[in-house]
Amino acid sequence: MTDKVNLLDFTLPQLTEWVAAQGEKPFRARQLFQWIHQRGVADFDAMTDLAKSLREKLKAAAEVRPPAILSEHRSADGTVKWLFDVGIGNGIETVFIPEEDRGTLCVSSQVGCALDCKFCSTGRQGFNRDLKTGEIIGQLWVANKRLSELEKEGASSRLVPRTSSLDVRHVSNVVFMGMGEPLNNFEPVVAAMSTMLDDHAYGLSRRRVTLSTSGVVPNIRKLKDALPVALAVSLHAPNDALRSRIMPINDAYPIATLLEACREYLEVSPRDFITFEYVMLDGVNDAPEHARELVELLQDVPSKLNLIPFNGFPDSGFERSDMQRVKRFQKILLDAGFVATIRKTRGGDIDAACGQLAGQVVNRMKKKTVRIHSHPGH
Ligand code: SAH
Ligand code: SF4
Repeated sequence: MTDKVNLLDFTLPQLTEWVAAQGEKPFRARQLFQWIHQRGVADFDAMTDLAKSLREKLKAAAEVRPPAILSEHRSADGTVKWLFDVGIGNGIETVFIPEEDRGTLCVSSQVGCALDCKFCSTGRQGFNRDLKTGEIIGQLWVANKRLSELEKEGASSRLVPRTSSLDVRHVSNVVFMGMGEPLNNFEPVVAAMSTMLDDHAYGLSRRRVTLSTSGVVPNIRKLKDALPVALAVSLHAPNDALRSRIMPINDAYPIATLLEACREYLEVSPRDFITFEYVMLDGVNDAPEHARELVELLQDVPSKLNLIPFNGFPDSGFERSDMQRVKRFQKILLDAGFVATIRKTRGGDIDAACGQLAGQVVNRMKKKTVRIHSHPGH
């Protein structure tokens, strides 16, 4: 263990304060921030435009300490998944998904999750702890670094081109759809997002950072005031009875309350719609009547629906809806004038899905959950 300050934990204003406390000028913080986040440099000696005296101070008191990679898996389709070590027995995962016009990084915000959604393997593990700012931004820092190393090795010809010739960045979009509920780790998530958006760091626009939440209503309101980025909401059911069965958080914040918070969020959102995620669970929430109920429900919320094929895990008690059923569901939404997409499954050969690999490795925090049997008739 080290007691040195981890510079990845700092936003630019925080770094400026820390640098000032070392008796240095504010612009030094900017330089340092750019070295770390734009060029992916951790070695202070390589930061050649910083005075030797400052470099010595930095070496004594600070370090750039990203989470350590436990394993890296590369899919034939270009998807890369990392499992990070965040303490003895704890793993979190991060997935990079390259597409024609963008490279999306799916990051984790907590080790495990307390919210216990019945179809989620992260929920099944239970909650272990919140990630620190440096562990969240560290996933992006490591991903960009590894992706440029892979590119140099020629292993990643399918990765998207660099966003600029100046830097080593491959990630153009970030989604908080890995492990954890980001709105239950509010300050570190907002701090990490502010570094993602900072022009002296990753310079991502608010539209390119998407926070996905299961519906922690008071914190949707807080986010609206703190740092409105694109918002995705895990809806997964068109009525309270069904949603409460698969998502216990619905008892605290039922659908009407949630949609009210969504409408308010749209006043400041960088996108003029909310993305609603809807995991297709065979025989549970995937009937045509559910789609019709959804159409009614979302009449007055500008929305985009993303239908997600269920990723199975051992003893989940659920099954993936077959594609015909998903398409029929989608058609009802499309016919009613909604934008509705079916999420492509990527990285299937490396299990690059929410909570999967970590689910197999992390068993320290397993807990009992009440299982819901989704197929009374099967
Ligand atoms: N906690 C946040 C973000 C992380 S989960 C949230 O719930 O929104 C990211 C998305 O993956 C959510 O929409 C979640 O419902 C979905 N998800 C969870 N388990 C899944 C599974 N087994 N198959 C498909 N999607 C799943
Ligand atoms: Fe937590 Fe999201 Fe999984 Fe629900 S779906 S248990 S909120 S990570």
